[in-house]
Amino acid sequence: LLSVRHLKKSYGDHEVLRDISFDVPRGKVFVLLGPSGSGKSTLIRCLNGLETIQGGTISFKGEPIDGREKTWRRLRTEIGMVFQSYDLFPNLTVAQNILLGPTKVQKRPKDEVERQMDGLLADVQLSEYRDAYPRELSGGQKQRIAIVRALTMNPELMLFDEVTASLDPEMVREVLELMLGLAEHHMTMIVVTHEMEFARRVADTVLFLENGVILERQSGHDFFTHPETDRAKAFLESMA
Ligand code: ATP
Ligand code: MG
Repeated sequence: LLSVRHLKKSYGDHEVLRDISFDVPRGKVFVLLGPSGSGKSTLIRCLNGLETIQGGTISFKGEPIDGREKTWRRLRTEIGMVFQSYDLFPNLTVAQNILLGPTKVQKRPKDEVERQMDGLLADVQLSEYRDAYPRELSGGQKQRIAIVRALTMNPELMLFDEVTASLDPEMVREVLELMLGLAEHHMTMIVVTHEMEFARRVADTVLFLENGVILERQSGHDFFTHPETDRAKAFLESMA
């Protein structure tokens, strides 16, 4: 579904991603791990066109992406992204937040999108918050709404960058459960997380980044049971 070849990204003369290549098949979950500053967020942002790249290619559904903003605007309806900070519009209700993209950008009929939204809100047990404002929600609820909002666009790929990092521990679980459910339903996902137990459960493949290169690429099972490199071993020990 997604193919990255020799991707390079730098800020000025600081090379942040160097020669990154990988392929994400449809229905698979890739987890990006690595120390702080290794380039995980930068990579995720490149995959959603939020960063210009200095080399290499990103292909989606077999087509190389030309990098123009117009192209990315179209692709962002197919590639959903959720970040650490809740990016709901504070002045819009939950329903208005969710409906905005599908009706305004995708120009889908409102009643159809509403039906889909109501189903998804019921799935995440947040139906009663349909007309609430973001400030009335807990962090975990906001994050689940942000995920529902992305899903309502019917994305083919979902990108998650530390979506539970700013949540209280008791709210982390409800967000991770939602993501586990997506994985079970074969949503293609690329996930940056510090939740190792979750990563172990959800990862088909782990990419371990350090200094902007993929130091290790393994099945989730193999990475967590016998990492190949000392760096990955040390990383896992530090996270335990
Ligand atoms: P963390 O686990 O702390 O979130 P990360 O793996 O997501 O780390 P990135 O945020 O991708 O790391 O940062 C990779 C490198 O790129 C860091 O050295 C960082 O300082 C640098 N960097 C990131 N964003 C910018 C920017 N907008 N301008 C300049 N340098 C940046
Ligand atoms: Mg990051």
